[in-house]
Amino acid sequence: MSLKINGQRLRSHLECLAKIGYREGAGITRLAYSREDVQAHEYVAVLMREAGLQVSYDPAWNLIGRWEPTLAQEDRHAWAASSGESVWPKKTSRPAIVMGSHLDTVPQGGPFDGALGVLGAVEVAQTIIENGWSLKRPLEVIAFANEEGSLAGGTFGSQAMAGSLAEEEMTLLQDEKSALARAYLNLGLDPKLVPSAKRDREFAAAYLELHIEQGDVLEGLGIPIGIVQGIVGIRRYEITVHGRAGHAGATPMAGRKDALVRAAQLVLDINEKARSFGPGTVATVGRIQASPGAFNVIPGLVNLYAEVRSLDLKTLEDFEAHLYRRVEGLGALAVVLRKDPVAMDRAVMGHVEAACEALRVRHQLIPSGAGHDAMNMAAVAPAGMIFVPSRAGLSHVPEEWTDWEHVTLGTQVLLESCLAVASHE
Ligand SMILES: [Zn+2]
Repeated sequence: MSLKINGQRLRSHLECLAKIGYREGAGITRLAYSREDVQAHEYVAVLMREAGLQVSYDPAWNLIGRWEPTLAQEDRHAWAASSGESVWPKKTSRPAIVMGSHLDTVPQGGPFDGALGVLGAVEVAQTIIENGWSLKRPLEVIAFANEEGSLAGGTFGSQAMAGSLAEEEMTLLQDEKSALARAYLNLGLDPKLVPSAKRDREFAAAYLELHIEQGDVLEGLGIPIGIVQGIVGIRRYEITVHGRAGHAGATPMAGRKDALVRAAQLVLDINEKARSFGPGTVATVGRIQASPGAFNVIPGLVNLYAEVRSLDLKTLEDFEAHLYRRVEGLGALAVVLRKDPVAMDRAVMGHVEAACEALRVRHQLIPSGAGHDAMNMAAVAPAGMIFVPSRAGLSHVPEEWTDWEHVTLGTQVLLESCLAVASHE
């Protein structure tokens, strides 16, 4: 016998959730910790209980639904009493299979970013529980707090759980006047305790996140499932290009040192360099500012904001070395951000692949160009992600859409992957 998720039920849950924070013509706005976000968490807590999960919040306001299949009722009480962790299950009996994503949105976002990963996971848990399926491991479904980064950097809740909060965020939590600390106080939580949401490395056998692709690769290929290889690393640079300002009429072309012309060549070079690395590496100059910035003055100084993303650390390093060489003699290069790529776990990817094959579903390895909670969870658990297609590649906009057929299929793959991890010792 094989288990089938209930696609109709999942759809109705996603449709109900999509009403929270919805405004006609303006999509869904559920900024982290807002009234709408709290309402969404309350709604999902109800669904978790209906599914048969034990619901709690950790100190970072991550909503956790947990199911202990192997413990008899008496053992469960004994465990809670002996661990003293009745509020939230910091210590696990056995490493759990953890699934999750987030419920908050960007301003005027869509109905699937994050929501699919949480409600898909609740559906998977409910399917397992209501069919009386026995697993060797506990299940946990997590709705991570503040993934989209309002009042703090993005993926805040999963960073707290992984113990990787940034120093600036720690400072904000200590300062009771900061908007972030006040958001926690409003929820009845002590902001200073947020870092204690950190989990042990042994808490999870695997972390699985179902998410919309937010790009158009899968749609372009006509393939319904993406198995995420990793989350790209990002390097950001502010580049200053020097020249010599002068009269735009009186200075002959031959003797000019036009900073913008030099910068333009650099922009083309960055684009070409990214192409030379092949698919999986992208580079963008997203902002350019010429000074003094007038019709009749040759630009003497230009500032460029350049960003490089790749799954491969060596590519990022080679690109950076190339930029340093290229900028030498032209001006200066300052590193604004260095975020390394995060690889997904090979064994977990293998389980997702096996799940796709068992279901005879076409699948494709794919990098994630956007950050997700999975990149933090990868530090405390073997992590994997499943992508489903985004129509026209649109996300973070009201038009964000994924076909119901793909929603159901992705969730079925999540279920099979979860069972594959559970049966694997
Ligand atoms: Zn998301």
